[in-house]
Amino acid sequence: MANKFLLATLFLAFLSGCKVYEAQPFEFEKPVDTTTRPIEMQEKKTYSVNGVFADNRFDGARLNDFKHLEEENYQATIKPENTPINKSPYYAFKLWSATNKRINIELNYTYASHRYTPKISRNGEDWTELPDSLVTLAVDSVNATFSVEVGSDTLWVAAQEVKNSKHTYDWCQQIAQHSDAKFSVIGKSKLGRDLYLLDIGKGAAEKKDIIAVISRQHPPEVTGYLAMEAFIEEIMNDTPLSNTFREKYRILVLPLMNPDGVDLGHWRHNAGGIDPNRDWAVYNQEENRIAANFFVKETAEYRSKLLLGLDFHSTYYDIFYTNKNGSADIPNFTAYWLQGIDLALGKESRKRASYPSSPVSKNWFFKQFGAEAIVYEIGDDTPRDFIKQKGSISAVEMMEILIFR
Ligand SMILES: [Zn+2]
Repeated sequence: MANKFLLATLFLAFLSGCKVYEAQPFEFEKPVDTTTRPIEMQEKKTYSVNGVFADNRFDGARLNDFKHLEEENYQATIKPENTPINKSPYYAFKLWSATNKRINIELNYTYASHRYTPKISRNGEDWTELPDSLVTLAVDSVNATFSVEVGSDTLWVAAQEVKNSKHTYDWCQQIAQHSDAKFSVIGKSKLGRDLYLLDIGKGAAEKKDIIAVISRQHPPEVTGYLAMEAFIEEIMNDTPLSNTFREKYRILVLPLMNPDGVDLGHWRHNAGGIDPNRDWAVYNQEENRIAANFFVKETAEYRSKLLLGLDFHSTYYDIFYTNKNGSADIPNFTAYWLQGIDLALGKESRKRASYPSSPVSKNWFFKQFGAEAIVYEIGDDTPRDFIKQKGSISAVEMMEILIFR
């Protein structure tokens, strides 16, 4: 009898050990074809023209051609990875010159109009925005020309601060110095880059409610990513609120959903040439399939409920995209949370609610888990210190609501 019981237990353990957790396919009212499409790779090289050097041989770079026009005028051609594509004309390259001089560079876009004000850096870490007086928009508003001093010291120029996979790796390492955070890899992107996970929480994960946080599906959306960093850093803080929150909840963070797109300097898509935030229905893309299966597996294995899904992005202004269909487990969470953020910041944020009709992550979190889900969008030009403040305040307000559940 004892033996039979033991065998049955072992058999069940064997079954559960082999269980494959897969996210369900979903049909949305407005489906999107996410079949892999070809992308055009930029040639990685150092351009040398008229004593000026321009270089894209680093992760997060985008420069498709560099030419001398006349006198101290140059042209940098910036192309997307494929078309049609959302108009997020991201660029990033290094510049230097044999002699110190001021040069003008025309950003020559082949598909979209100028959007991002150039940022410059002397070390690739600390960035400042070029003042308006040094940037001129062409009469047709498509191209823009900016003026910079170049010399033998490398100057980085980019649409947004360069935050490549190395940056996110270093950030995860830093967060994981805390004993309540574990840094690991849940799988590989199409081109073999790591998909990072921060698994945050104190004590056993069993039956703990899960907060899912994802970021950087869209490579140029650095400002949303910066808000995500501040949000997580607040959760890691040594305060009574954060400490208790980590005891009570498990926070699963996928900070870099599209590492290929980020390192290749893409405008929007992954290496499969697809907008990853349209593939949360049939998971044609590796990164989506791995992330979706991962969340399904964690909730099943630990008998946890995924309560809330937050997805950080950037657009022209700060806005929260919410679902008209909310979670039954935390009714009115979004209304209370956004009100708390508005009160703490002393200004009303933009909000837009919709029904879950398209295959984006927000709708997937709702369909798959019945979770509350919100797209947290930061403006391209939102001041960086405000982004940090807002990210941190958003975490405090969320924790204050959920801590008493
Ligand atoms: Zn986005």
